[in-house]
Amino acid sequence: MPQNLPPPRIHVLAKPSGATCNLACSYCFFLDKELLYPNSKFRMTDEVLENYIRQLIESHRTSEVTVAWQGGEPTLMGVDFYRKAIQYQEKHRKPGMTFENTMQTNGTLLDDEWCEFFKENDYLIGISIDGPQHLHDAHRVDKGSQGTYDNVMRGLRLLQKHEVEYNVLVTVNSLNADYPREIYRFMRDEVGTKWIQFIPIVERVNPDGYNVYQMGNTVTERSVRPEQFGRFLIQVFDEWIREDVGEIFVQTFEAAARNWMGLDSSGMCVFEETCGLGLAIEHNGDLYSCDHFVEPDYLLGNIKEEHMLQMVASDEQTKFGQDKRDSLPQYCLDCDVRFACHGECPKNRFIETPTGEPGLNYLCGGYKGFFHRINEPFKILTMLMRSGRPASDVMAIVADREIHFKESFAKAKVDDNCPCGSEMRFKDCHGWQRPKRRRRRRRAVTPQARPPVRIS
Ligand code: SF4
Ligand code: SF4
Repeated sequence: MPQNLPPPRIHVLAKPSGATCNLACSYCFFLDKELLYPNSKFRMTDEVLENYIRQLIESHRTSEVTVAWQGGEPTLMGVDFYRKAIQYQEKHRKPGMTFENTMQTNGTLLDDEWCEFFKENDYLIGISIDGPQHLHDAHRVDKGSQGTYDNVMRGLRLLQKHEVEYNVLVTVNSLNADYPREIYRFMRDEVGTKWIQFIPIVERVNPDGYNVYQMGNTVTERSVRPEQFGRFLIQVFDEWIREDVGEIFVQTFEAAARNWMGLDSSGMCVFEETCGLGLAIEHNGDLYSCDHFVEPDYLLGNIKEEHMLQMVASDEQTKFGQDKRDSLPQYCLDCDVRFACHGECPKNRFIETPTGEPGLNYLCGGYKGFFHRINEPFKILTMLMRSGRPASDVMAIVADREIHFKESFAKAKVDDNCPCGSEMRFKDCHGWQRPKRRRRRRRAVTPQARPPVRIS
């Protein structure tokens, strides 16, 4: 029997093809996870698939179940694998139960058959794209180090042609983080998407060069810098809050708005007080505490030997989830925006606070600035929503209130707090200018595939 009361619903990211991928994006932390399964073919068998779907259903006390596929690259399994998954959902469905099938893909292998299947089965597809070609191709390359932008856009247009529901996922790295408006406008105006997710790249460097375990407090050059990420979010927010509220949905802003309104859940695990309800399952049935902790120390067990529900409710997983709250340093406990941040994801908590306490989030400086910047507009938004007015009314009010910003920016000195309210230094926030050397570096970027993983 489970040791703790199991949650009514969970979210599991399934990796039917393990870490294998047809691309070799230079920042992909997951490619190294191949090392966990030497000599594996990295294909989920029929037996594991049915077992997984059945246990996932049995682990829910709600009528809605999300079946989420990810990788590596999940389309490597072929469309028939997912047809079977649908059959197993029907076979084990409880009365009144509905399924939401989702898939995160690089989009390069999509064709009409895939898109027809997605449409028929109401899939929600997440497409990974890092911006316009010069930004996307800098890191998202195939195994021959060739950019993948054209192929991704081809897949994306196919999804649109078949009217498949989709969103875009942008990984924010040290290169594209300097182009927030360009990326946002590209997604909105050229791609034509309504839903955007921004995920920061924070890649720790291990002495062995691999990321099977996350260790140390040094990050790769590709990783976004904290103040850079904060500025990125702020600049996208500036445009969104003046032009696109109610039209374009940016996951980070939606989650923050929910926290400002004091709703039960932000909808993003990283901004929840505790975690532990978002797990990951490998191709062979191994269940891990989280997609970001697919490491031997966080292996809960295998669904062939133990029921998923039992592992979810285990002391180990409960502690994993509660540690997010219980391990916060005093600096976070005293923070005025903790209600919105909650110290973000534990995977990024590897720096020290100003007083030398360990466990502060690497991205703290950026998040703090972003949350301070949105405080006033989101207080207005909350007031509007509570009085039954549409969220989009906030745009005119904010535009009116922030009319003086231009003047204040013109007067601000580089080390002053930015007049936008972020409390970041002006030179790191609205006073920041893309350095010329960055432009030179951009021209010099040579796409490099992540080297193949050596399995000894
Ligand atoms: S460890 Fe991070 S990614 Fe995983 S559930 Fe917790 S907050 Fe989310
Ligand atoms: S903004 Fe920084 S100090 Fe505040 S809760 Fe987040 S990580 Fe902690």
